[in-house]
Amino acid sequence: MLTTSLGILGLNHLGIAVSSLDAARPYYEQVLGAAFDGEEVVEEQRVRVAFYRLGDGPEALRWELLEPTDAESPVAKFITKRGPGLHHTAYTVDDVAASLAAAEAAGLRLIDRAPRRGAHGAEIAFLHPSSTGGMLVELCRSKDNPHA
Ligand code: ZN
Repeated sequence: MLTTSLGILGLNHLGIAVSSLDAARPYYEQVLGAAFDGEEVVEEQRVRVAFYRLGDGPEALRWELLEPTDAESPVAKFITKRGPGLHHTAYTVDDVAASLAAAEAAGLRLIDRAPRRGAHGAEIAFLHPSSTGGMLVELCRSKDNPHA
């Protein structure tokens, strides 16, 4: 498998900012035919997150729908500024700390200096969009890594 210098193994999921999870569900469930994989509130980010998946294994497509729980949520501010839609791209890596070090060495701007705990018990860290061509990038090591 090809790997980049950041140790990216594949696409983990797309993070989509939505104003309302309930309004977004029919598109994912009925139009795309994606399976609902549960939801949880991530207090630290002030978001309610719903997980959807199409297919299984490494080839599966995954979406993380992010609904702000209050107006101070970073996702609420994102929606106010740019509207709902693609919020971040998450790549699967084996070792988030090593990928962060590689990103820093490559001159990228880090949002997280060290891995932290994300939804679904994953280990995650974010890279700032100002150094990645405008896209908020999440490095993600899933508890059950689909690419492992
Ligand atoms: Zn994510």
